[in-house]
Parts: sequence; structure tokens; C-alpha cells
Amino acid sequence: MDPGARPRGRRGVTAAVSRSGTRVERLPLSRFTTLGVGGEAEVWFVTSHDALAEAMERPYRILGGGSNLVIADAGVPERVLRLSGPLAERDLTPDPLLSTPARVVTGWVGGGVPLPGLVRQLQKLGLSGLEGTVGIPAQVGGAVWMNAGTRYGEMFDGLHTIELVTPEGTRQVTPDDLPWGYRQSGIPRNHVVSRVRLALTVSTPDAVLAKMDFADQARRGQPKMKTPGCAFKNPGGVSAGQLIDEAGLKGTRIGNALIAPEHANFIVNLGGATAADVHALLDTVRARVKVPLELEYELWPGQAEP
Ligand SMILES: Cc1cc2nc3c(=O)[nH]c(=O)nc-3n(C[C@H](O)[C@H](O)[C@H](O)COP(=O)(O)OP(=O)(O)OC[C@H]3O[C@@H](n4cnc5c(N)ncnc54)[C@H](O)[C@@H]3O)c2cc1C
Repeated sequence: MDPGARPRGRRGVTAAVSRSGTRVERLPLSRFTTLGVGGEAEVWFVTSHDALAEAMERPYRILGGGSNLVIADAGVPERVLRLSGPLAERDLTPDPLLSTPARVVTGWVGGGVPLPGLVRQLQKLGLSGLEGTVGIPAQVGGAVWMNAGTRYGEMFDGLHTIELVTPEGTRQVTPDDLPWGYRQSGIPRNHVVSRVRLALTVSTPDAVLAKMDFADQARRGQPKMKTPGCAFKNPGGVSAGQLIDEAGLKGTRIGNALIAPEHANFIVNLGGATAADVHALLDTVRARVKVPLELEYELWPGQAEP
């Protein structure tokens, strides 16, 4: 805990308020991941650029929706930054100077905004651009950082400006400034996607909904349990799930982690699974599938921010 921080909060919970007024709490990261796994770390609930600047004075990691992470049972030693307050709010008002009858450029959308709710809201407004990302349980910042998407569309289909914060300061870039591509933004690892402005095509709620339904249908057959999504990338265009299935591993259970019977490329938490259980299953898959498989998830700790 930051030496300057003042302790406060509920019994048994180590909470403090930092110099910039940021709430800092030692918490199990399992609370913030879709897999429901991960040990403790010092979580900084950053609500402003001043708070980000202070939090970045020491080694840090950025936590989004936790939907692509397997975090160790021992947690991580770095500060974990969670975008909150105004950095998790959205202003979808069309910018009168940049918008046209055919295209809306929005106000700022915080990196901490949950993507599924945003996609639903845009559909209701009849604004098209991000509907291909329907069903991705990310936050906006994490989805931009990875250029999350499906074959029906990706985050960079709807971006106008991206605000990046680093220990050196804040700058704004456009997609043209970045070497983005398939599931990558080209944004370096220690850069926080703090806010974005969206550029969307004016459509109708029904037309956007129809596209969303199409993208959503592709998710049928995916397990509904706690999971960090697909475990492995498809090697050379071959389905990783099919290879795992052919190795006879569907339904394999270690501890409370299971290779989903519905889809072999998903590992699910049956309740109380540990990161060790998940790692043991990943090792089993790698040992039994003859083709080298590259992991889709990010493992923490792995790479720490400087
Ligand atoms: C059920 C399920 C379905 C999924 N389907 C898809 C899919 O169809 N397509 C797809 O692409 N992905 C999919 N995923 C994977 C995942 O949702 C994406 O990889 C997503 O981009 C992760 O975003 P996040 O906010 O959860 O990031 P996290 O998992 O929290 O973090 C992932 C990485 O992003 C970084 N990061 C997070 N927030 C920020 C930020 N504000 N600024 C900078 N870096 C940040 C983290 O430091 C970390 O390196 C799925 C996952 C699940 C659980």
C-alpha cells in the first residue's frame, strides 16, 4: 500500500485513499475476471488523469473487463489500474463540428465503459460501426487495445480518436497513426487507453439489430459458464477446438476447471477453480495435441509494465 495513503474502510479490507484522492484496495483479482480466478493485488480505482499519473509512479498493470486474462493464484505484485468514475462514463452526443447527416462523431467514451452495454445503446440509437463486437465481454479500453472483434466487425471499425496515457503524459491519436491489424492495435503495453471518440454511420435500430443478430448467432454453442474465452489461436487456419476434440480432451477436468463439453477450445470454471487447475489443463492440451498451439489468453504475471 502506498506509504502516503490513509487507511479506511470495512473491517478486514485494506482500503486507503491516495494523494490524488484515489481509492486503493487490496482485493482478489478473481472478482474482476470472467474466469473468476486470480489472487490479490493493490487495485487503484482511477477516476481522472491526475489519478492515472499518480498510479503510474510505480510499476502497474491495466485491468479492463478481465475477459482475456488468467491471473495467478498468488496475484501480481504491481499496482492494478481500474478505470472508474468519469473514465467509465460515455458521452454519445454528436459533435456538431465533425458530424454529418450520414456520420456521427461522438463525445468521449471512457476506457472503463463495458462494451456490451455500449453496443446495445448504439443499436437503440441506430448508429452502426461496433455491432460486430456484440457478445465480447470487454471494456472499451481493453477491446481497443486488442482490437477485439469477430468476422462481422472489430473495434477499429468505429474509432475516431484514441486518448493514450503514459507516465510521460497524455496524447491523442487516430487509427491512421497506429499500425493496427487483426486483433492488435499497435498500442504499446504500458499505454492506457483512457478514452475514445467513436465515428459511426447513421443507420436505423432495426438494421443495426439485424447485423448484431447475425454476429450473435456465431456464438451459439459457446459455453455460458465462467471462462476467459477461447484458449488457443487457430493454428494455420485449422480449428484449435477441433484439434483438442480429436485428441479426446472434451470434458477433461482438473480440480474445478473443465474443458467445455460444448466447445473444446473453452476452459470453464466449475466454481472454485484455481489458476493452477487452468494451467494444468493447458499443459495437458499442449502435451496431447501434436500441433504447436499458441495461447489466446494473457497470463498474469507475465509481462509487467515498466
Ligand atoms: C465469453 C467470451 C467471448 C469472447 N469473444 C471474443 C471475440 O469474439 N472476439 C475477441 O476479439 N475477443 C473475445 N474474447 C476475449 C476478450 O473479450 C477480448 O480479448 C477483449 O479485448 C479483452 O478486453 P478486456 O477489457 O476484458 O481486457 P482484459 O482482459 O482486462 O485485459 C486484456 C489486455 O488488455 C489490456 N487492457 C485492458 N484495458 C486496457 C486499457 N484501458 N488500456 C490499455 N490496455 C488495456 C490489459 O492490460 C491486458 O493486457 C472473449 C472473451 C470471453 C470471456
